[in-house]
Amino acid sequence: MADIFDFDEDELSSKVKSQLSVGIARSATTDSFLEMADKLGDLNDQQQPVQTFQKHRSNSVISVGTIDNRLGTSYKVDLDEIYDADLTESHENSSVNLLSQEASSKTYTGRKPFRKVVIQDFEPITVLGKGSYGKVILVKDKRNGKLYAQKQLKKAAMVVNASNYERTLTERTILKKVNNSHIVKLYYALQDFDKVYLLLEYLQGGELFHHLSQERILSEKVACFYIAEMILALRHLHINAGVIYRDLKPENCMLNGKGHLVLTDFGLSKVSEECTSMFGTAQYMAPEIIKGEKYDSQCDWWSLGAVMFDMLTGSPPFTGNNNKKIMDKIVSQKVKYPFYLSQDARDLLGKFLNKNPNKRLNCDTDFDKKVRNHRFFRFINWDHLINQDDIKQPPPIIPIITNPELAENFDDEFTCMRITPPSSPIKDNMFENFAESRTNSTSSFIAIKRPDQNGDVKESVYFSNFSYTNESVYLN
Ligand code: ATP
Ligand code: MG
Repeated sequence: MADIFDFDEDELSSKVKSQLSVGIARSATTDSFLEMADKLGDLNDQQQPVQTFQKHRSNSVISVGTIDNRLGTSYKVDLDEIYDADLTESHENSSVNLLSQEASSKTYTGRKPFRKVVIQDFEPITVLGKGSYGKVILVKDKRNGKLYAQKQLKKAAMVVNASNYERTLTERTILKKVNNSHIVKLYYALQDFDKVYLLLEYLQGGELFHHLSQERILSEKVACFYIAEMILALRHLHINAGVIYRDLKPENCMLNGKGHLVLTDFGLSKVSEECTSMFGTAQYMAPEIIKGEKYDSQCDWWSLGAVMFDMLTGSPPFTGNNNKKIMDKIVSQKVKYPFYLSQDARDLLGKFLNKNPNKRLNCDTDFDKKVRNHRFFRFINWDHLINQDDIKQPPPIIPIITNPELAENFDDEFTCMRITPPSSPIKDNMFENFAESRTNSTSSFIAIKRPDQNGDVKESVYFSNFSYTNESVYLN
């Protein structure tokens, strides 16, 4: 049996529309957030003993509270016949079918005709990183040798925990609509029987966290470059895309091959002006989020202050050995500034780390009046920075890259990991726990089945409207 599992999304969706049957809606469980935070904190403590000399990752993402708008209908459909028909198609056959189908429906001027891209077009090279939701792998496009970072998530994990599905869908939807050099580019969103995949721009310089943990503390001259680029990225998200990022932390800031800062990980972001759910990573989370108040994009400027503090001092402003302690301090304690921080750095930090979001510095509205000419940014020429003129405003760290396939700027902890985890088939009862999100999309999930090599029928889900190809891949 061919190993290729190739969906014809349009055909499947149209057939499915006529077969939709049972609708199940389930709302998310809402625990008291502090109770949950406490549990997360304890878990975190058990897993991560506090290290005194080595900077450690703050990968304790908190995502509790109501998941907004999770009221969509989930459809469970028996697709045996349609699915079998797809399975009998070989890779080549389906490509030919798609070629003629695409050619008749779209005209891409100046472009070669294309066939549908499938995940088997990408050859895995090494693991680049691991987040709380899955591995990120360096892959090579077999057709042209281009490298991508492939973020993947098992469908089984999405079915068991609907927030995993929500995150991936949010990330795909936001990255599809944002186009900025400081925001990671999404090239393809794909799925096969077991997993969903986001094929992202490969950020060869690695995590800013990686460089930060080598240096421990950055000088103000170095830090202001990254803070300035973070401001450009967040302003673009807020002003042009209407997106609140909600998870700014050093691990989510990466460097591209030239040393410019690029934001990744949009699973916790939100297309909205106001939110109430508690999302983020404790150390960098704004007080209004912790207090359960309504909040808006001002929360990102608090996180920027916390990241700036981390860069300049070696740790975020409020620390503790569990999330509850950290969050209590964020809400109630004053920031203590070490003696070696300059007056300029203290002044800017104080403006970002203002517990009152209405009095906090807003880089969206006050950029020209209060940010551009702030003395902390005296080493920055904003025009050169915006134009990425690397001669006049060079990035302070130029990543060493002798061969991009070696992933030299990524930790051995990840690059030595095994690439393919054992697959975990979805069990029948998992479907009952699945609540579909309809936050930003019309996506629906559809039950599908496939016999494995022993002839046993395995179940999975098909996410209608998930797949995506960035137009720019046809142009170069
Ligand atoms: P979490 O929510 O725990 O932060 P996540 O599961 O959403 O994580 P990411 O933060 O997106 O995953 O990615 C995990 C790691 O993979 C990153 O910290 C980084 O080291 C690496 N990584 C992610 N995206 C890229 C990319 N585009 N290029 C290179 N490496 C990447
Ligand atoms: Mg991350």
